[in-house]
Amino acid sequence: MQSTPSILPDLIDAVAATIESHAEEVTQLDQTLGDGDHVTNLQRGLKKLMEQKEALAAAEDWSAAMQKIAMSVMSTVGGASGSLYGTLFMALSKGLKGKPVDLPTFARAFAEAVDAVKKRGRTEVGEKTMVDTLAPVADALLTAADASLPLAQVLHQVRQAAEKGMESTRDMLATKGRASYMGERSRGIIDAGARTSQLMICAIADRLGA
Ligand code: ADP
Ligand code: MG
Repeated sequence: MQSTPSILPDLIDAVAATIESHAEEVTQLDQTLGDGDHVTNLQRGLKKLMEQKEALAAAEDWSAAMQKIAMSVMSTVGGASGSLYGTLFMALSKGLKGKPVDLPTFARAFAEAVDAVKKRGRTEVGEKTMVDTLAPVADALLTAADASLPLAQVLHQVRQAAEKGMESTRDMLATKGRASYMGERSRGIIDAGARTSQLMICAIADRLGA
């Protein structure tokens, strides 16, 4: 990855586009299991990031850019996902601080950031949340870094982990967030937050591979 985040505007565009094109599907998931606002929550954050694209690209380094994103996300997204993504980006900023951004560094920082999300949400894998997408992606990154895989293969592993993790939420019983009020009726439906994290991660992987 470049030492400065000049690619961020492209990545933000890719993320916004995938959320836009899956808005109906995800809203339906969150209407069934939650209160139906997940897409509009994310879109509020993405609108803010769109406005900040230039400032983000001009940030001193990746750590500074992640911190800016964390602040924007926390102040605009709202809902459970706002504080959780805010936590993710804040921890990423901390993990990347003062380091050249290579795969091993990013993989470690991402794994630490997912741990921070788990702590913040008091959530483990298997509770039908975004963590079920994020945690396998962190593991895939760490494994790929250990094996020094070429970029195309890293991205392939990341996509697969995200998709498998997202799919795994379908049959889970929700025990965290609003979906937990549904009890056994939560089974059979993919978690909206797991779906959007997968969509965003896959959009980023596609853009990095292009
Ligand atoms: P809210 O649930 O407050 O309306 P959103 O609709 O924006 O917030 O986000 C809902 C998503 O947030 C869920 O689909 C789930 O993936 C995630 N989520 C909710 N609570 C938690 C938690 N405690 N830990 C991890 N993720 C959570
Ligand atoms: Mg909601």
